[in-house]
Amino acid sequence: MTNNLKYFIGNWKMFGDFGSFKIIHKINQYISKNKKFNKCKIVLCVPNTLLDFFNKKLKSQLVSLGAQNCHQEEGYGAFTGSVSALMLKKMGAKYIILGHSENRSEGETYGIIKRKITSALKQKLNVIFCIGENYKEKKNGKTFITLRKQIKGSLEKKFNKNKIFIAYEPIWSIGTNKIPKTNELRNTIKFIKRDLNFFFNTNKCPKILYGGSVNPKNIRLFSSIAEIDGFLIGGASQSSKKFIDIIKNYYK
Ligand code: PEP
Repeated sequence: MTNNLKYFIGNWKMFGDFGSFKIIHKINQYISKNKKFNKCKIVLCVPNTLLDFFNKKLKSQLVSLGAQNCHQEEGYGAFTGSVSALMLKKMGAKYIILGHSENRSEGETYGIIKRKITSALKQKLNVIFCIGENYKEKKNGKTFITLRKQIKGSLEKKFNKNKIFIAYEPIWSIGTNKIPKTNELRNTIKFIKRDLNFFFNTNKCPKILYGGSVNPKNIRLFSSIAEIDGFLIGGASQSSKKFIDIIKNYYK
């Protein structure tokens, strides 16, 4: 275990209602009572319908709120059913997930994701930019090629790298209970770091998260990989017990 700040970021997807605030409340209570957790940052990316309500109820600095997507257009416009980064910021979002494979699979292109990142950064939102290979790409040894394409296709050198997190989420691992082998994952994270350092011409690249079937049982496997700066947690973030157990077990 390292002393660096680690991020535990929940992606609630299309789940939750006003009553789900109790999940955030329990997580917050637990974290604030345990000093050893002051080395972790909790973010919950909730549906847009809950952002304002949760933001008003949330008094703690320990838990931040995030959104899960936005329209690429910056402010307001005739885009039925869409929400911009500006609107999400006004509702209390501090973070935003962009480029999630569930959205890419519905037609989100590299170019659209780049515009979304641009508009989110303009609003000073922290961007959680998801990348990851599918099973076929993995099987054909194309993981690194895919990741490099996704990075180059949607990031710009001039972006503020301090506001960007890269979530490495192998598509075959999302919601499947399948996770990468420790060694493979360590190598992939190192590859992403090297690639980003080169891309941004820095030795302090954006933080790298891992996402894909993280749960209280397998989190210990990930804690041995010091290069991982945190986790994007889908299914297990919808239960306060599972989410707390992930953090507890990480620091065991
Ligand atoms: C996700 O969808 O971002 C995710 C990581 O999901 P899960 O943890 O359920 O695999």
